[in-house]
Amino acid sequence: MSVDEAQKKIISVFEPLGMETISIEKAIGRVLAQSVFSEINLPLFPNSSMDGFAVRSLDLEGVSKEYPKQLEVVDDIPAGKVSKIVIKSGQASRIMTGAPLPRGADSVIPVEDTDQFQHGRQSQILPSRVNVFRSVQSGDYVRQKGEDIQSGECVLPQGKRIRPQEVGLLAMLGMSDIPVVKRPRVAIISTGDELVPINKALGPGQIYDSNIYSLSAQVSRDGGEPFNLGIASDRESAVIDVLEKTTSSRVDLILSTAGVSVGAFDVVKSVVERFGRIEFWRVNMRPGKPVTFGHYQNIPFVGLPGNPVSAYVSYEIFVRPAVYRLSGMETFEHLRIPVRLLDPVESDGRESYLRAIVKRQAGNWTAQLTGHQGSGNLWSLVQANALLVLPSGVKSLPSGAIIEALLLNEAD
Ligand code: AMP
Ligand code: MG
Repeated sequence: MSVDEAQKKIISVFEPLGMETISIEKAIGRVLAQSVFSEINLPLFPNSSMDGFAVRSLDLEGVSKEYPKQLEVVDDIPAGKVSKIVIKSGQASRIMTGAPLPRGADSVIPVEDTDQFQHGRQSQILPSRVNVFRSVQSGDYVRQKGEDIQSGECVLPQGKRIRPQEVGLLAMLGMSDIPVVKRPRVAIISTGDELVPINKALGPGQIYDSNIYSLSAQVSRDGGEPFNLGIASDRESAVIDVLEKTTSSRVDLILSTAGVSVGAFDVVKSVVERFGRIEFWRVNMRPGKPVTFGHYQNIPFVGLPGNPVSAYVSYEIFVRPAVYRLSGMETFEHLRIPVRLLDPVESDGRESYLRAIVKRQAGNWTAQLTGHQGSGNLWSLVQANALLVLPSGVKSLPSGAIIEALLLNEAD
């Protein structure tokens, strides 16, 4: 099966989860379950964008440094105060940034353009007169009511992931409770007789279980809640025991690593076959060929290969879009850009994802491989910021050729 077909098959079984309401303090990284419409105008009222003097622009026609104009100062308006005084011709009110524009005024003169700005500051005492050194157009240095957002406008669409700036906007709208999509719960199991949890001592021939940590981190990064099921040995009964834990609480997706190749002890696939069904097994890609997709009981199940790089890459290609879909987002696609190869590259004709460093050099995006491409060599993935995508059927490309790079570091 091609990578494309496998991606489509997996994504097709997922639907966005239901909604819950959370406090704005917890909203970062969550996905909006409903579009947000503003019930107010922003700004809420016309206000000054500078510290200065609220004036009538007609009073200052033709005014300049050489021909200043003196105005009578009739009020002092700090932010938060609504002035009761209407500005008449020949008058001004001192005003601070964010303070409501007083009636009668149509513009603001920054304090820097008056005689009240000396030695880089203005005095606290309200002057009775101010000399103005420039003219203004009506509306200058005024933030008009509703100029950013009009009441009734859709400001954030359903399916939008909340970043810090969205948090700020929700607060500006006065929203303390935010409707978000429930976080996908993703159960993760490692399989293999050689695996040891990282808090235990290693025996001969054993290695630490690293996949469970990297996959949990990928799930968390994508807004899911990882649920560590632990390690199962390469016996059917051990795999069944661990998978049984998924039936007692809500699980939206099960991920396993290893045990899905053609080794004599690869038992995961047969367990899933027995207690559910296998949709497909094996994808024409490198690394990641033995990716398995099916259902355990009725829970979607993705069996990822055991080699750490394969597990990581196949999560990115097949699982990340599913977690996004569950989270209520439309689609997930890595950013891809064309890059020029600094090394020749080779593969075996399967669609291949090669670890590389992409950087800009003399105006061009270039790519250099990060050492040997063994699928157990996680270090080469640590150094990489991109995967070069060698299409299916292409066995080699010379240095200087253009290839597509899938960027690993971008935020969505
Ligand atoms: P397998 O798919 O069981 O043949 O495993 C392929 C390779 O991945 C073997 O070298 C395993 O030791 C290694 N491997 C499997 N699971 C993990 C894991 N959870 N953490 C680190 N390496 C693993
Ligand atoms: Mg194994």
